[in-house]
Amino acid sequence: MKFSYKILLSCIITMAAALGIGGYFFVNDVFQASMEREMGQAADENSILQFAFETAALNIPAKYDLLQNSAVKEIGSSLEKSGQGTGRLLRLSDENREVLYASEGFVEDRELLAGIEKQTRVYRVIHPDEHYYIQTGAEIRALDRTLYLETMRDVTAVYQERSRGFAVYRNLTLLILLISSVLMFFIATWLTRPIRLLTQAARKMTDGDYSYRAEQVSRDEMGQLTQDFNHMAGVLEENIHELEAEVQAREDFIAAFSHELKTPLTAVIGYADVLRSRKLDDEKHFLSANYIYTEGKRLEAMSLRLLDIIVTKRGALTPEKVDVEMLFGYLRDMYGEKEEHPFTFRYEPGYICGELDLLKSVLLNLADNACKASEPGKPIEVFGENRPEGYYFTVKDYGVGISPEDCRRITEAFYMVDKSRSRSHNGAGLGLALCAEILKLHGSGLEITSTLGEGSSFGFEIPHEEKKDDGTEESQKCGSDRIDGVHSAGGSAGAGADRPL
Ligand code: ADP
Repeated sequence: MKFSYKILLSCIITMAAALGIGGYFFVNDVFQASMEREMGQAADENSILQFAFETAALNIPAKYDLLQNSAVKEIGSSLEKSGQGTGRLLRLSDENREVLYASEGFVEDRELLAGIEKQTRVYRVIHPDEHYYIQTGAEIRALDRTLYLETMRDVTAVYQERSRGFAVYRNLTLLILLISSVLMFFIATWLTRPIRLLTQAARKMTDGDYSYRAEQVSRDEMGQLTQDFNHMAGVLEENIHELEAEVQAREDFIAAFSHELKTPLTAVIGYADVLRSRKLDDEKHFLSANYIYTEGKRLEAMSLRLLDIIVTKRGALTPEKVDVEMLFGYLRDMYGEKEEHPFTFRYEPGYICGELDLLKSVLLNLADNACKASEPGKPIEVFGENRPEGYYFTVKDYGVGISPEDCRRITEAFYMVDKSRSRSHNGAGLGLALCAEILKLHGSGLEITSTLGEGSSFGFEIPHEEKKDDGTEESQKCGSDRIDGVHSAGGSAGAGADRPL
């Protein structure tokens, strides 16, 4: 049964019970009051007739002060007649409770008569035919006799009044119930609307519409429940999207990984097959073996990079105080003498907090990429400057540049802008993914700015080695403490994004 119907039904039952019980007590109370009034009047009438009988008996001339049965009948008859029009009914009985006179229609049974005692007045309600009567009985002492007077007062109207009262009340109750049922139906429907909206939202979400939200139609507890539900739905939706993105990224990774593995393996197997099945001249033999060697080297480089990424991803940072001079000195040693690309190093002295080898790896990757992307002779610049938040490194080239679309995806594992060019340089699209992971460990990220055909600039910030008040430089983080991988703070194009491997 619907919840609104349950509310409706319980209200109707409660109202019906309340109206029924209330009505019963009300009508009965009125009836009791009327009956008490009638009882009083019946008793009054009985005592008036008692008094009238005794007076009449005194006025009758009697022999030796004896009251004859005939005189009793006569007085009874005249008393009945004097009350004509009022429906007076009376019965007179002698000392032996034998009836001497009875009005026509007076009940025959003598139960009340038998119960009349000295100086008491007794009464009862009787229902001989279709009428109700209050029968009253009392003892009379007249002259030498003790007689019994009984009267009957018709109270059928009071009973009819009660029946009418019940009927009116029943009809009124039914009418009230009918009207209030209609009203309650609308009220119950209105009250349960938030529940229906919540159910609808839950169903929509179950069907996959995660962005659907329940409409909040009230500010009470139901409204609060809707708000909480929507909040929960929001959090769930976010988690689901994150999970979906993660699953998608994993699938992309596996697809790219299989592809990157398949290409060199196919070449290696093909050339190995040629070598074992045919006798080749020396030159072709060398070329085939060389191909197997270079592709094998590429596979080795790729697996090492992957290993690096996995280790970096799972690892924790052992931060140390690093003099930027050490990093720039390293780069100078590696690239300073390169004739193909003139390198410029411009940097401010400074100390940073990070892991030297990992930072060297980042700068090496960026410098390598800059070389690969630039025509021979094009300059490459590496800058270092102190900024309020940290020390900022920039590797800038004047090479092919990267489109905004590629910029967004460039740090994804196996993503290569120009696959043949990357592969020809033993690349597999893992260098920047590794850089992003390392920088994430340092609480940083890659910032990439690039224009196609003009060149690119890769920047990242590493926290300063903090200075103490006495001027000596010492970081709270550096030393033996370890920093676990934290999310990238970089605002670059997808550079520090949390990407699954
Ligand atoms: P790889 O190890 O294959 O070089 P990376 O992850 O380092 O892979 O780089 C991903 C892609 O980004 C490469 O395909 C490369 O073409 C492009 N790329 C990286 N650095 C630059 C740059 N400075 N200029 C232009 N393209 C770049």
